[in-house]
Amino acid sequence: MPIDPMPIPGLIDPVPLPRTVTPRADGRVDLIGLSRAAITDLFAAAGLDAKAAKLRAKQVYHWIYHRGASDFDAMTDIAKAMRPWLSSRFVIGRPAVVEAQASSDGTRKWLLRTADQHDFEMVFIPDADRGTLCVSSQVGCTLNCRFCHTGTMRLVRNLTPGEIVGQVMLARDALGEWPRAGGTMAGLDDDPDDDDGDGIGSYSADGRLLTNIVMMGMGEPLYNFDNVRDALEIVMDGDGLALSKRRITLSTSGVVPLMARCGQEIGVNLAVSLHGVTKAVRDELVPINRKFGLDALLAACADYPGASNARRITFEYVMLDGINDSDADAHELVRLIRHYRLPAKVNLIPFNPWPGAPYTCSTPERIRRFSDIVFEGGISAPVRTPRGRDIDAACGQLKTAAARKSRAEMDRLAEEKQAALG
Ligand code: SAH
Ligand code: SF4
Repeated sequence: MPIDPMPIPGLIDPVPLPRTVTPRADGRVDLIGLSRAAITDLFAAAGLDAKAAKLRAKQVYHWIYHRGASDFDAMTDIAKAMRPWLSSRFVIGRPAVVEAQASSDGTRKWLLRTADQHDFEMVFIPDADRGTLCVSSQVGCTLNCRFCHTGTMRLVRNLTPGEIVGQVMLARDALGEWPRAGGTMAGLDDDPDDDDGDGIGSYSADGRLLTNIVMMGMGEPLYNFDNVRDALEIVMDGDGLALSKRRITLSTSGVVPLMARCGQEIGVNLAVSLHGVTKAVRDELVPINRKFGLDALLAACADYPGASNARRITFEYVMLDGINDSDADAHELVRLIRHYRLPAKVNLIPFNPWPGAPYTCSTPERIRRFSDIVFEGGISAPVRTPRGRDIDAACGQLKTAAARKSRAEMDRLAEEKQAALG
């Protein structure tokens, strides 16, 4: 049964829950996801004087985000007597792991659960020269792109900054990658080729380490702008997780009014889920196109702060048999990129089928031909290799426990979502 596209909610945060602190049954406050200033305020409210609150917040922030501590007892430069004061009032949480899977190609997938029992997923994809973590921004999604499995689920809620940054921290836990006192990464020898003198192994030597982050998991990150921004601020902070903004990519389906702010306030690389080059096709595949059309989208890309030939915008293009994969489509893609003078590269993604999906993947020959045409137009257009197929790990097609429900159940959820939003 075809699912009619729902009305697009526009520039409104679809779940305006004022969550920054995750409530806990035991009354303690989870510090994960909080900024230095927020931690300072909490310490002051709990009774420390202004100067002590600031100093302790700085120390605790460093231990939480830079060193990966999840226990106040590990914070050796904080007086022993102070630590029980902290642990009786605060905790340092992580999303709960419901299930962890490893694919034969090295891809790893985690099914995670929020404190209020919502499941979402995270995927780690190691390559020859990098290790990429695919992070979720929402449980479900308000948009229903027709080829996307997440689009068949209803939006449950936005993830908090703690649940977003918590994904990266959990991955570092699992990969044994927190810097240790004394210098080396836990579980890894210092890299002999890395002579920067920091005593910490090179992050890019062999692809074993988490080097890159893509906001390409479940959800539309620009519809959870504030929480995504606050989480990435900690990820990029030198005293936080210290990942360069050049190694972080945010993928949007095309929330045009927030793209400039994304460049200005977050400053990460931009990926745009294009998938179609005509109004008719993109309207069908990515229904937000009805609200923010191709012209507005590509103009916003041309204006994206920080985009240059050295920092290109990535256009994601899922290859759907007979839908968007013709020679004419490839030529039109080249024309559009040239017309808007976009510093762009194109990622061709073989469609990852899911039960009941209304499309099939283009043939390998078709994808090759499409890629060649775009290349001949002077634009890089690699074909992304599907990863972790044996564990259903395709980024952007993350499955929650809910998604494993029967087709009938998925139809019901889609109908409910439509009714709720229509
Ligand atoms: N909501 C954001 C980010 C999450 S989706 C966005 O749409 O950009 C991440 C990427 O995975 C998007 O480019 C999406 O189009 C792609 N994707 C979703 N489902 C897919 C599928 N079944 N096969 C291949 N790519 C898919
Ligand atoms: Fe949401 Fe992105 Fe999936 Fe579209 S492709 S439904 S925006 S997660």
